[in-house]
Amino acid sequence: MASNLITRRKLVQTLSLGSAALLLSPSGLLAACNTQKRGLGVALVGLGYYSTDLLAPALQLTKHCHLAGIVTGSPDKAEAWKRKYNIPDKNIYNYSNFDSIANNKDIDVVYVVLPPSMHHEYVIRAANAGKHVWCEKPMAMTAKECTEMIEACKKNKKSLAIGYRLQHEPTTQAYRRIINTGQLGKIQKVDCAAGYRDGRTDHWKQKKELGGGALYDMGVYAIQGARFGAGTEPIAVVSAKTSTTRPEIYKNGLDETTEAVLEFPGGVMASIKTSFGENVNHLVVNAEKGTLEVRPVQQYNGIRAKSPLGEIYHDYKVPMQQAMQMDDDAQAIAQGKPMMVPGEEGLRDIRIVEAIYKSAASGQRVVL
Ligand code: NAD
Repeated sequence: MASNLITRRKLVQTLSLGSAALLLSPSGLLAACNTQKRGLGVALVGLGYYSTDLLAPALQLTKHCHLAGIVTGSPDKAEAWKRKYNIPDKNIYNYSNFDSIANNKDIDVVYVVLPPSMHHEYVIRAANAGKHVWCEKPMAMTAKECTEMIEACKKNKKSLAIGYRLQHEPTTQAYRRIINTGQLGKIQKVDCAAGYRDGRTDHWKQKKELGGGALYDMGVYAIQGARFGAGTEPIAVVSAKTSTTRPEIYKNGLDETTEAVLEFPGGVMASIKTSFGENVNHLVVNAEKGTLEVRPVQQYNGIRAKSPLGEIYHDYKVPMQQAMQMDDDAQAIAQGKPMMVPGEEGLRDIRIVEAIYKSAASGQRVVL
């Protein structure tokens, strides 16, 4: 039991951040990190919630990359960020002059943090500008777009990573190892749900043309949970259903809630659910030697996994997941290694998203 219980001390060794940095108070850490430019220069494209509240603060904690530039359509935001993060004018771009980032040696990586419908265009423009690219989830709207993004990065010999922060998270990594090494025996059944009540009515999450809908947004976490729980890749979508309790908001077939059954090799079935209407957040894996439960399965911290092998929990503060993710990716780029979560991983999920929507529309089983 104790072997899987990872102590805080061990976590400090695991994290890519130095243990000394972790012992500093957040303000002390910020001050310490701000005084020097560490590792690769990152430009954030799109200064909305995720860039503002998570990624920019995380880039003050990272050891192998730093916030070097911004791309925004809003002059007010540009001014505020310039002052807050001490960003020089020459590293501030808008959506029209973005391509001239090609000539900026301060920027090594462009991180696309825009609504999903814009990921395809900006990832390709960034790759063609000769920059490594990090792209937020969901990778894009279609598998075709994902493939074109992967090709553009390959053609320009640049790395492409998808912002699946949980794949850099120690509890997630530990429960995946338990499944993948067969410690729970044969997997029998999987159930994963990821969703929250979104009170907004006019955000891109409620607009189909911008990449809205629960399945694209939170559904990719449920799909990943099912894939991780099964320890393999699905072969078919057996059935799927989309629904809404707020048809005045979720219009034209946009899903507020999606439920699906995925089939994995050996007849293992996974039920998944995602929603903008209710708070759901778990992974339950029934296996030969017992049950693994992860609650919550996705959150910025507090991921907790319980199984007959013991409990796994890592104590860290927000935005450590994002810092771990960006440090892992920056180190891999600096060392010429493959990305831990490459474009192909985003493509895998978008193929499943497309098959789920197809199954929901047709009422048929869809082979992957
Ligand atoms: P947001 O709406 O808060 O920000 C989007 C940004 O894009 C804004 O700055 C907005 O001005 C800009 N933008 C440019 N053109 C736009 C257009 N035509 N319509 C709308 N906005 C436009 O969104 P967010 O929550 O920051 O999400 C951005 C991306 O980050 C999405 O892909 C989302 O899925 C992802 N995200 C990931 C996580 C995670 O945990 N990995 C968490 C939140 C968001």
